[in-house]
Amino acid sequence: MNPTVFPHPPDLGALADTLSTLAAQSAEQGPWRSGAFEATARSGLLAGFIAKEDGGTALSDAAITEALVAISARCLTTALVVTQWAAAVRILSSATADVRSAMLPPLARGADPTTVGISQLTTSRRHLGRPALVATHTGGEWRLDGLCPWVTGADSTRTIVTGAGTAEGGQAFFVVPTDAPGLTIDPPLAMLALHGSRTSAVHFAGVRPLVAIATPPAGGVRTGGLSTTALAVGAARASLTAIAKEAEARPTLAAVADDFSTEIANLHDRLTAAATDGIEPSGRDRLRADANGLVVRVAQAALTASKGAGFVTGHLVERLVRESLFFLVWSCPQAVADAFLCDLTS
Ligand SMILES: Cc1cc2nc3c(=O)[nH]c(=O)nc-3n(C[C@H](O)[C@H](O)[C@H](O)COP(=O)(O)OP(=O)(O)OC[C@H]3O[C@@H](n4cnc5c(N)ncnc54)[C@H](O)[C@@H]3O)c2cc1C
Repeated sequence: MNPTVFPHPPDLGALADTLSTLAAQSAEQGPWRSGAFEATARSGLLAGFIAKEDGGTALSDAAITEALVAISARCLTTALVVTQWAAAVRILSSATADVRSAMLPPLARGADPTTVGISQLTTSRRHLGRPALVATHTGGEWRLDGLCPWVTGADSTRTIVTGAGTAEGGQAFFVVPTDAPGLTIDPPLAMLALHGSRTSAVHFAGVRPLVAIATPPAGGVRTGGLSTTALAVGAARASLTAIAKEAEARPTLAAVADDFSTEIANLHDRLTAAATDGIEPSGRDRLRADANGLVVRVAQAALTASKGAGFVTGHLVERLVRESLFFLVWSCPQAVADAFLCDLTS
């Protein structure tokens, strides 16, 4: 069979327009049902996260970062879903060649969507002193017991890529079908924002994974990667656009729009440099902390500019303000959370 040919580079202009058109539907029903996920696959962006030998187009980190900024400025729900899909793909990319060749080419086409449930290894339930999800190897088979507290799109995807603690104190990674016996998906959480991401807790009772990924992902699993900052920059741009629109009728707002435009452009430049040249963990956390502060401030400025109208449910700015708060809790390194709390108290 001939490999699928994807637009390369991805057609981001057309994708951004489609995501804008579908944004309200995606925020409500999720991008799998609105057509936004399919449009993202069609644009060639999903293939960009996958190596050429696995059926993708292997975009550079800088190109991926740029694409995430562009799509999150139009639809944060779809951007979140894409990052969780991409985190699953990143872990899958360290699987054996036969697993990669079975799973990655369909994923590049947007088929059989996947998602990730790994926060129990990084940020969730860490204070409890025992793994929330435990992997046991007996009789040559793995079984999983416990909980993934956060899984975006658990009820809208075919597989979950997850990680669990082992009896030896290590970590092991697996692919689990969402209809596996013993797996229960809670109803999507009622959240402050990003309801369309259909994020649920997933329970495991003696679940047999489809695939055990013997080699852990290169660099391990981590929080606060550049993609999370890219989404914050995109979300900040969406609020800036709302301020600029208000400024068309009220010239006094033009200076505010200009100031935020400069600040977002500076942060964007730092992000692009980090994606191109690499960045140390402390610099990466600083970037994320600055992006968190900016996205919250610019959303509040957009609300102030749009006045009471922006406070009414259904107004774009009302959604942007709620979505800006997501960055305070999502994949947020402890150092970033501590710095933000410190800023708030000073
Ligand atoms: C919309 C959304 C979608 C997400 N999607 C995914 C996804 O698809 N995949 C994924 O892997 N992750 C996902 N996440 C998870 C995210 O990356 C973080 O892991 C998560 O937000 C961390 O919050 P938590 O409540 O689980 O943290 P926890 O640390 O578990 O905190 C929970 C509660 O425990 C208490 N607590 C915390 N620390 C202590 C302590 N030291 N001592 C005593 N009590 C304490 C506090 O009361 C706190 O409210 C998502 C998050 C959001 C908001």
